[in-house]
Amino acid sequence: MGSITAYWDDSFVVHEPPAGEFEAEWTGRLAKREPHPDRPERLLNVRAILRTELAEYVSWEPAPSATDEQLHRVHTADHVSEFEAFCAAGGGRLTAETGANEASARAARHAAGAAAAAATHALDAGLEDVPYACVRPSGHHAQPAQVDGFCFYNNAAVAAEEALLADAVDRVAIVDWDVHHGNGTQEVFYDRADVLTISLHNDHWSWDPEAHPQTGDVDEHGAGAGEGYNLNVPLPPGTGDEGYADAFDRLVEPVVEAFDPDLLVVSAGGDAGTVDPLGRNVLTKPGFEELGRRARRLAADATDGRLALIQEGGYQVSHLPYATLGTLEGVLGLDSDVEDPFAWLGEDVDSARRRIDEVTAHYDRWWPLD
Ligand SMILES: [Zn+2]
Repeated sequence: MGSITAYWDDSFVVHEPPAGEFEAEWTGRLAKREPHPDRPERLLNVRAILRTELAEYVSWEPAPSATDEQLHRVHTADHVSEFEAFCAAGGGRLTAETGANEASARAARHAAGAAAAAATHALDAGLEDVPYACVRPSGHHAQPAQVDGFCFYNNAAVAAEEALLADAVDRVAIVDWDVHHGNGTQEVFYDRADVLTISLHNDHWSWDPEAHPQTGDVDEHGAGAGEGYNLNVPLPPGTGDEGYADAFDRLVEPVVEAFDPDLLVVSAGGDAGTVDPLGRNVLTKPGFEELGRRARRLAADATDGRLALIQEGGYQVSHLPYATLGTLEGVLGLDSDVEDPFAWLGEDVDSARRRIDEVTAHYDRWWPLD
């Protein structure tokens, strides 16, 4: 059972990208500006449902600010200073879809600091008290010198680097079930064998050749010493609870167990959720509960119980809290009586299975996959 420590800073709900036409810039063609999909309500609703439903299990800790040293292990010094200067000047759009305001620099620092603190906490506490970085902005699209996809600093990568400083840690596995490709995390560790990166995502390809050159396809499998240590699982639209469980059974679990990491970091996005406007997969709250259970079991089997959860995306502001509640209930091993109010779409199990066949066939030259 155990408990959860959630890391939080109020700046997480003050950071806000400019409004427009959903994530795109305002053109004046429409009647009304729409808030950017990365809205503060996302995280306010997550905190609210955890306070309502898991109050006796979740304690809240202040998220520390990441130091320059922590950020510079992942990002260039120019990237950090230029982003901070941009925010100090009032913010605006940095790419077609990614923007910031004056609060974003603090929020991004504390999000990265929360992730680093979560990694350290996981090494100390194990599964007795699992850390959860309840953060905005997300991190997994941020590359060493490039913001992308609503992300500025790569929180999961900062967490992995922090853990690797510990004597007890030689290898870290990052499993990313956000519905978008964890291209930034991939980029940070692409030529390294000490950090295994696995991303399960919609097969959405690149949305911007400059900010996002990676495709997320299986052939991006790492390079040099890192060959075979980056796995992409591009899932077809309509992949849901059974499809994700199948991908864990046939790929994520055998690969992570063979890698034998000392810490499992989960980039726990909620945007594979069934009504998310920025994803086409149909995970329900029970599906997220199953992912949470599997993450806990995998950490117990493969890492001596070291597990750190980091919030990534999730853009339907009423569904994301149910997805996150499900994930944490699964991690805690609770039988939930809270139902998903939006679970009515069927899933395309056959297409998901066929794709997972192709993905496992690609990676079985490096890993013990059937
Ligand atoms: Zn996402």
